[in-house]
Amino acid sequence: MEDRCVGCTTCIKRCPTEAIRVRGGRAHIIKGRCIDCGICMQVCKHKAKVAVTKKLDEILESPYKLKIALPPPSLYSQFEGNRNVNRILTALRRIGFDEVVGVAMGAEVITAATREYIREHPRSEEEGPWISSACPAIVRLIQNRFPSLIDNILPLISPMETAARIARKAFIEKGYKDEEIGVFFITPCPAKATEVAHPSMVEKSAVTDTVALNEIFYKIRPIIKSIQGEDIEVLQLSGQEGIRWAHIGGESENLGLKDVLSVDGIDNVIEIMDRLENGVIQRVDFIEANACTGGCLGGPMAVENPFSAETRMKKVLRRNENPCYNKEILGIRVPVEAEKELEELDNMQFSSDMQEAWRMMQERDQLNERLPQIDCGACGSPSCLAFATDVVKGKVQVEDCIFLLRQRVKEVAEEMVALSGKMPPSIKQKDEE
Ligand code: SF4
Ligand code: SF4
Ligand code: SF4
Repeated sequence: MEDRCVGCTTCIKRCPTEAIRVRGGRAHIIKGRCIDCGICMQVCKHKAKVAVTKKLDEILESPYKLKIALPPPSLYSQFEGNRNVNRILTALRRIGFDEVVGVAMGAEVITAATREYIREHPRSEEEGPWISSACPAIVRLIQNRFPSLIDNILPLISPMETAARIARKAFIEKGYKDEEIGVFFITPCPAKATEVAHPSMVEKSAVTDTVALNEIFYKIRPIIKSIQGEDIEVLQLSGQEGIRWAHIGGESENLGLKDVLSVDGIDNVIEIMDRLENGVIQRVDFIEANACTGGCLGGPMAVENPFSAETRMKKVLRRNENPCYNKEILGIRVPVEAEKELEELDNMQFSSDMQEAWRMMQERDQLNERLPQIDCGACGSPSCLAFATDVVKGKVQVEDCIFLLRQRVKEVAEEMVALSGKMPPSIKQKDEE
């Protein structure tokens, strides 16, 4: 990740959880604090940060007897001049996947499950609204910065996980063994890749691995146009309801609730969560929050500009008013409730010992008062307050702040000037006489 890093400090100031420090001319991510929002990937001009995904060639060479692609609905908005979902799915088979199961089908299952869950578990005004669990970066943001809202997260698994479970079950019923099946999600973001490797809501993901959406885009774009007429296979498993999850407001629109709030872009989400935590938000039944501007259409590994993708997505949705389905696996049912309780993540606490935490906080505040409050980032920490915290935690020295260092140098220089005028006691005595 860090080979290309030049230590410019651009990313440290944009990270919403202050998870990055530049030390020794390189950016380092603090484990447990990163929510995988991908903002650092987007702002780094040096392309020093990349998501960990499998390459298509590695997937195709893997020993799985059956390789299933799991495309997200955001993929359907990426291709200029194409609104035909089945053509895109056919292209995925052409590049080497044996089967294709669209995640939009899982989204339709989760839509129905969400409607039912909310009906059976209404929340009071004091408890606050349910918050969608679909964006893993938002789930981690809440675990990290807003732990008091963890209980508001809807305890249902994601459309990706649901589609993967259904795909596995369908092909096991057709005679494959579980270990012979490889399920590969085409991811628009690092958050989904991390969710597969370290799931927060299930014990083990049914997805085998992920491949970057932009890699797949460039592999299938040249062949999409050549797939015409009868060459287009009927592989689609969902209609508008599932596909519209890709864009902002799509998930909540499906629920038919009276008061819903849809928010996108990490800074906007943080503002809404702040307001929710402080009880200054109007009453709503459901919050759909997406870390990326434009929802998954704006994912760090999407190719198209999210606003152009949104226009195209509307055309795809219109075309899918009466979709042509492959109904073969649509009757399969899988459990969709979360299997694990969400836990609070590293929330920048000083110490689990209250007294020690209080002492460190006092020390941090005293040091912070001596800092210039210009958040220049030259120290490698994202803000003066974060620097003071890092000093108290023993991660850096006070002198790593250029302003404190300058002040210290000035004090030393003044001491030296004062000392330069001093005489040994014997001479001094003579002078004084
Ligand atoms: S933006 Fe961050 S990762 Fe990229 S070069 Fe600058 S310090 Fe390194
Ligand atoms: S992915 Fe997001 S949270 Fe993680 S280090 Fe980058 S900007 Fe920070
Ligand atoms: S909005 Fe979508 S693409 Fe962006 S982090 Fe969340 S799940 Fe990933």
